[in-house]
Amino acid sequence: MTTVAAYAAPAAKAPLERTTIERREVGEFDVLIDIKFAGICHSDIHQAREGWGEAIFPMVPGHEIAGVVSEVGSGVTKFKVGDRVGVGCMVDSCRECENCKAGFEQYCLKGMVGTYNAVGKDGRPTHGGYSQKIVVDENYTVRIPDGLSLDVAAPLLCAGVTTFSPLRHWNAGPGKKVAIIGLGGLGHMAVKIAHAMGAEVTVLSQSLRKKDDGLKLGADHYYATSDPKTFEELQGTFDLIVSTVSAPLDFGAYLSLVKVDGALANVGAPEEPISLNLFSLIGGRKTLAGSLIGGIRETQEMLDFCAEHGIGAEIELISASEINEAYERVLNSDVRYRFVIDTATI
Ligand SMILES: [Zn+2]
Ligand SMILES: [Zn+2]
Repeated sequence: MTTVAAYAAPAAKAPLERTTIERREVGEFDVLIDIKFAGICHSDIHQAREGWGEAIFPMVPGHEIAGVVSEVGSGVTKFKVGDRVGVGCMVDSCRECENCKAGFEQYCLKGMVGTYNAVGKDGRPTHGGYSQKIVVDENYTVRIPDGLSLDVAAPLLCAGVTTFSPLRHWNAGPGKKVAIIGLGGLGHMAVKIAHAMGAEVTVLSQSLRKKDDGLKLGADHYYATSDPKTFEELQGTFDLIVSTVSAPLDFGAYLSLVKVDGALANVGAPEEPISLNLFSLIGGRKTLAGSLIGGIRETQEMLDFCAEHGIGAEIELISASEINEAYERVLNSDVRYRFVIDTATI
């Protein structure tokens, strides 16, 4: 075991504080990563506050991890000391089910092992990126291309792949009209990636407050959803809408903006069930879908794509002592667009 400095929530809803945790010894197929940067994802807050159900405490959140390999196990073939690497939302899965074999480890039939707030195959709770080191199996580690700075790469490991995956799956590209609901941590990545894929991109946001940012990030159009005229004007417009918000939406209204055979894919997860009149799907053979992060292979594809197109997250770099304040600001939508912790300050 190695003792590592970390920031943890000691109990649900309690402020995070500095502590130490134990990391396992580097096994045959493991890499030891010196974490340099860790993004703050909205789901860190949901889990640290038990918004998604009972959680494991103390909890070290963080699944947007960027760092450098400092040791490798004897059987490791994919990485060497000094490699720049990332870890996203999962650190293991069964590796044997249909979905794992197809590269969809995030949909593992036995359940993926989350980077934190989960139990690893060794029976011990997993701890995430708000810490200085982590030990991860090489098969759940990805390479960060040289063209990407580690600080702006960190949020790609969750926000990047979460939006890349549905955009790829539903074929965002030239000639396609894509709308992104919400311009937050996920939404700003969705805009950049959809634009780089060649789609015509529209942001649907509550107000026009971030319009200038949205256009700079690559959006072609920007509409306020608080204005009822938006829904009249854009009826039947989009091949794909990706919703990045976790607030409950009027899904019927948004489905009216989708073309025949189009899809509304959700990556945000409201805490409450939704109600929907199915006529909004029937009238236009439409799909209401969901999408969860991406597999390991797809996460690597996303990083390579982002490096090729010069895409990183827009970040506010903070020290570890600012984490609790940052959580409040995320809840108030007061971040442009992702907080990233400099883990040297832990
Ligand atoms: Zn996340
Ligand atoms: Zn599996």
